[in-house]
Amino acid sequence: MALDNKVQDAVIVAIDGPAGAGKSTIAKEVSKRLGFTYLDTGAMYRSLTLKALNQGINLEDEDALVDLAKQVHIDFCTDENHKLQVLLDGKDVTEDIRTSEVTNNTFYIACVVGVREIMVNRQREIGSTSNIVAEGRDIGTVVFPNAKRKFYLDANFEERAQRRIKELREKGKQIEADEIQNDLKERDTKDFTRKVGPLKKAEDAIVIDSTHMSIEQVVQKIIEVILHDG
Ligand code: C5P
Repeated sequence: MALDNKVQDAVIVAIDGPAGAGKSTIAKEVSKRLGFTYLDTGAMYRSLTLKALNQGINLEDEDALVDLAKQVHIDFCTDENHKLQVLLDGKDVTEDIRTSEVTNNTFYIACVVGVREIMVNRQREIGSTSNIVAEGRDIGTVVFPNAKRKFYLDANFEERAQRRIKELREKGKQIEADEIQNDLKERDTKDFTRKVGPLKKAEDAIVIDSTHMSIEQVVQKIIEVILHDG
């Protein structure tokens, strides 16, 4: 059942959690079933990283990154097959932002206070126009502290690494399991420990450990909670 997607009193569902916990898959499916807009905030940090890499900007130059964030246009749309697209300055970068180069360099952007302020404002803007399911690291704590429902989606490290390996192999990528595990460990450390907008469970978030759950079970659980709220 889709809730009324009206602009007034927009309903916000926040889903935070570490990399590989299944946030994207789950958030996409939940938003589809509820008729809500899906907001992938990680895609925004990735897009800005891609832009900085393309322009050869020094990723340790915080002022240059803030300037870049001020100029960038990041939008979301759906193509003719209803597939979600990420647009960076009008260009489709849906696939380009998923490379390991982008994944492993996003932390530079993600720890700059001025960049996060701009990103958070843009996310709030998107959240003010329709009912949304937003996923990221700081959604329930910083971006939408008043979200109607907050979920913290977790899974143990081994399972998250296995999911990432499977996902990349399904895309035909040649990868070493060790390399993925090390990258994930490093991303966890950076996500949990950065000074601004770190990954943190909101006090009022419902924790779902998806280690032994199927996608459908997690989706059902989240939808049940939301529909129960009315
Ligand atoms: O969710 P995803 O893995 O695509 O996010 C990519 C990176 O963007 C994360 O590792 C994190 O450093 C950053 N990020 C963030 N805040 C968010 C979403 C993502 O800092 N709300």
